[in-house]
Amino acid sequence: MFQKILIANRGEIALRVLRACKELGIQTVVVHSTADADAMHVRLADESVCIGPPPSRDSYLNIHQIVAACEITGADAVHPGYGFLSENAKFADILAAHNITFIGPTGDHIRIMGDKIEAKRTAKRLGIPVVPGSDGAVTDQKEARRIAAEIGYPVIIKASAGGGGRGMKVALTEADLEIALQTASTEAGAAFGDDAVYIEKYLEKPRHIEVQVFGDGFGRGVHFGERDCSLQRRHQKVWEEAPSPALNAEERARIGGICAKAIADLGYSGAGTIEFLYENGEFYFIEMNTRLQVEHPVTEAITGIDLVHEQIRVASGGGLSVKQEDIKFNGHAIECRINAEDPRTFTPSPGTITHFHTPGGLGIRVDSGVYSGYKIPPYYDSLIGKLIVHGRNRVECMMRLRRALDEFVVDGIKTTLPLFRDLVGNADIANGDYDIHWLEKYLAKEE
Ligand code: ADP
Repeated sequence: MFQKILIANRGEIALRVLRACKELGIQTVVVHSTADADAMHVRLADESVCIGPPPSRDSYLNIHQIVAACEITGADAVHPGYGFLSENAKFADILAAHNITFIGPTGDHIRIMGDKIEAKRTAKRLGIPVVPGSDGAVTDQKEARRIAAEIGYPVIIKASAGGGGRGMKVALTEADLEIALQTASTEAGAAFGDDAVYIEKYLEKPRHIEVQVFGDGFGRGVHFGERDCSLQRRHQKVWEEAPSPALNAEERARIGGICAKAIADLGYSGAGTIEFLYENGEFYFIEMNTRLQVEHPVTEAITGIDLVHEQIRVASGGGLSVKQEDIKFNGHAIECRINAEDPRTFTPSPGTITHFHTPGGLGIRVDSGVYSGYKIPPYYDSLIGKLIVHGRNRVECMMRLRRALDEFVVDGIKTTLPLFRDLVGNADIANGDYDIHWLEKYLAKEE
């Protein structure tokens, strides 16, 4: 087992990883920018190293500084959290070259999944259902027209190097195709330095359903069920739940089994999430994330398994603590992402939190790095905490969520808490009846 883990992240996820390390008796080092000197994870860590000024590229993305911090403190492993360097294959390779363990998959697996065309090809080869579309990059208009006619309109043009919901263009008819292909490719070139684009069928009312998987590094794979993350704004998840209100037990077992086998066949090591669009009883692979996800706590709530403990065990060569048959699903969990943003306009609202009071009681978990008197710096994303609620079933979970939202107090800044108080009283949400466009339509109506 590791002696000392360096946490290369900030905010709630740095604290989340730190807690797991403490439980496992592992020493912790955190790195931080000058803007985060007062952060909770810095206060609670055994050691901390300031690695640079506020901008991420000079601190949390500065590979040389982070490797130097490992060498100075003698850390033998790095947990990257999510975002920042968590899906940076070069970072994983550099750590390996320094004999420091990257708590995540190999650089090669990160590279395959980071290239969407390659990821889709790999998924297909592993028996994962994919969205019908081109078999690789599409460059000329004639080929684009042929493929689009074959799969049927509407189609979506996506950048192979895309991410964060950027680099996508929809063509409703053949008349839109030429411009869509051209602009998608030009924009991808400018934004990602790679103009490769591909075409797939545009699904009109899908849900976003993702499967949590783990490879043990010895050729075994398991799944921890699915999460439904259909409530999104600008392709950013807002509310996540497990299990999905849309799946039955047969569908769950089928897609879970396919994913677990694929992970085993790939020889994958660590945590991963295989993301699907789901429509009319069919699953369509869109991408795989090779890291821990923001919404992992809903899976922890219904399985009772600490996924960060598992990541650390697997990375240290100790394998998983559970076999597939040990993973049981119990009840229902919902996560609300609480952002320091105006709940109507979603503009960021940094500043000082004058009062911070979290709800408690049975089935409530709050993952947050903020506290009363904490000043939210303006340099990073606006997630200040996550409220995760568990109940024996979805009805009980929703009752508890409503109560927990009423107890939650964040003064001094604006947050998205009022949005969740509205959502929890909505009939469609109560019925679990929503797709990936539901929230945007709801917000447009409210304006
Ligand atoms: P990113 O890596 O940028 O997040 P994804 O491939 O995961 O890109 O897609 C992000 C979102 O775009 C999906 O959650 C979905 O809302 C939409 N999307 C992507 N592909 C399709 C498709 N074929 N049909 C409909 N919507 C899609």
